[in-house]
Amino acid sequence: MTRDLFEIMTSNAEAGPGDAGRTGSWRVERPVIDLARCTPAKRGKAACHLCWLYCPDGVISKDLEPEILLEYCKGCGICAEECPTQAIRMVAEAEFVEE
Ligand code: SF4
Ligand code: SF4
Repeated sequence: MTRDLFEIMTSNAEAGPGDAGRTGSWRVERPVIDLARCTPAKRGKAACHLCWLYCPDGVISKDLEPEILLEYCKGCGICAEECPTQAIRMVAEAEFVEE
């Protein structure tokens, strides 16, 4: 097998928004980021981004102020578990529906 053919056959295992469908409709809790506790937002420079790294659906942006694409967020809570500063909390969807 030539090197070129091997490269063609190699897949990209990185998760991306929508790879698992519109999983936002599964959600009973939504992640909410408190930027006052978020390391890159507080320091104004790229740091941490563990939420981006661990989100299984790849729906958190790697920005100084991370944003979550809720259309594809299934509400698993992994980001909240992995955030070292407890900047992300899971809030019941019902609370948002009532507002
Ligand atoms: S894991 Fe927490 S502190 Fe780190 S970028 Fe995400 S929200 Fe901010
Ligand atoms: S709850 Fe967090 S880790 Fe889970 S899909 Fe939503 S943004 Fe990603």
